[in-house]
Amino acid sequence: MKELKGKGVSAGIAIGPIRFYRKEEVTVKREHVEDTDAELARLEKAKEKTLEQLGNLYEKARKEVGDASAQIFEVHQMMVEDDDYQESIHNIISAQKLNAEYAVATTADNFADMFASMDDAYMKERAADVRDVSERLLRNLQNKSDGGIDTDEKYILCADDLAPSETVQMDKTNVLAFCTRYGASNSHTAILARTMSLPAIIGLGEALTEDMEGKQAIIDGRTGVLFLEPDEQTRAQKQKEYEDELKHRELLQELKGQDNVTPYGQSINVYANIGGLNDIGAVLANDARGIGLFRSEFLYLENSDYPDEEQQFQCYKKVLERMAGKKVIIRTMDIGADKQIDYFNLDKEDNPALGYRAIRICLTRPEIFKTQLRALYRASYFGSLGIMFPMIISLEEVREIKQIVASVKKELDEENIPYSDDVELGIMIETPAAAMVSDQLAPEVDFFSVGTNDLTQYTLALDRQNPHLDRFLDTHHPALLRLIQFAADNAHKHGAWIGICGELGGDLELTDTFLAMGIDELSVSPNRVLPLRERIRSVQKEEVEAIKSSYKIG
Ligand code: PEP
Ligand code: MG
Repeated sequence: MKELKGKGVSAGIAIGPIRFYRKEEVTVKREHVEDTDAELARLEKAKEKTLEQLGNLYEKARKEVGDASAQIFEVHQMMVEDDDYQESIHNIISAQKLNAEYAVATTADNFADMFASMDDAYMKERAADVRDVSERLLRNLQNKSDGGIDTDEKYILCADDLAPSETVQMDKTNVLAFCTRYGASNSHTAILARTMSLPAIIGLGEALTEDMEGKQAIIDGRTGVLFLEPDEQTRAQKQKEYEDELKHRELLQELKGQDNVTPYGQSINVYANIGGLNDIGAVLANDARGIGLFRSEFLYLENSDYPDEEQQFQCYKKVLERMAGKKVIIRTMDIGADKQIDYFNLDKEDNPALGYRAIRICLTRPEIFKTQLRALYRASYFGSLGIMFPMIISLEEVREIKQIVASVKKELDEENIPYSDDVELGIMIETPAAAMVSDQLAPEVDFFSVGTNDLTQYTLALDRQNPHLDRFLDTHHPALLRLIQFAADNAHKHGAWIGICGELGGDLELTDTFLAMGIDELSVSPNRVLPLRERIRSVQKEEVEAIKSSYKIG
């Protein structure tokens, strides 16, 4: 037996075989070929495989996210079969006697450049699709995997690190746990694991090697230990811990239907965070009373092109309908930083976390923003919607957003499209700037939601993606807690409510502090809802009184 130590970022125990997610690099060399017929046959085989994969992806996407999102895979199928595209590849192979990889890569470059130079915005964006589909064709020519793991057996997924776009697209049905060499506590892999209630360990480093493929392992997501080929004693002990954990979860079930109220009568809302429609089952199963953060950017990450208004509307409407009148707070897309999307064509940045992301993209590309807002307002008719805006730093931004919202509502009025008059508008407090001017921001909005993941990163100047900084990361740092208290006081002074939707909201060591600060809502991963309710129901008045003025500034 071997023990590997990393950082546990999502509690729980998993037992099963290890499978590696690897995205093999495709390299394209220019090579002369004599037998061009054989090369064309090789191309044909790769093309068939590509079409089959795209067909499967289409079916999967149709089931998971609906027809509109799935259509892109049909478009990709059409591109692979396009006569001009195929003719160009065939010509390079036959006339120039060059290898298929080179022919595909050159054709892809030519077609992508051609699309990119067109005036029409829609056609311009096809450049990314040609590249995407050609990359798939190249992988199939070289028999390289796209990282997906094809097995019916349940497994522990291991990887270097996982980008949000990868985790979104992979089939997660058989994943028992996540383990990565790198990654940081608040990275989206960690958040995804918590949302899916799967154990996860990050930062296992070079000790996690690919020769472990297929070997049995136990993951303890609480302590961050991976036991490779566990001995009988360890297996028995972990099996027992696993059963105890299940028992505790069962006990927590008794809290379903109970109020989120302290023994001395202070109530607080407990909502859940989601990344998409697939998470709603867990929200309802854990009896969350609303959704405090729907990270809408995942809808963009799932797609290989901008989701249009209708597609977004259908998705938001479904969420609202399934939540049957309970509050649903949808955050407008937070693309950029660690959540990169090819079709946004964003420039490479030296400091992406301090760069062009979230509301900054929305305010400079209002056509994308307006499409999302129109979809949100149309959906508002079907439930109780709150919309919140990420990465705010100033009053001017909030005013500009409100003007755009007003213009969207006017458009809908003119088109006689119904929407709700009760949509709450809120902003995320996730920059120190927003917290420090929260007295100016509060009168403008209905609510604040504190994004502690980013607020921690920007307050402590610690990159949330950098695993080497975890030892400096003090999530209870008084600077952070003071900023939250300051924002809470300002919200209440101006009649707004305040919630916390960052990961800190689920930290049970701070529940008494948040109650003392007067926080109105905590939004956490679905599997943290009942443990949090258990904690709230045990907090004593004296504990809260003792910390009431600890974080007041001045
Ligand atoms: C946060 O920053 O705390 C937050 C909730 O947003 P995200 O983790 O998606 O950046
Ligand atoms: Mg954030």
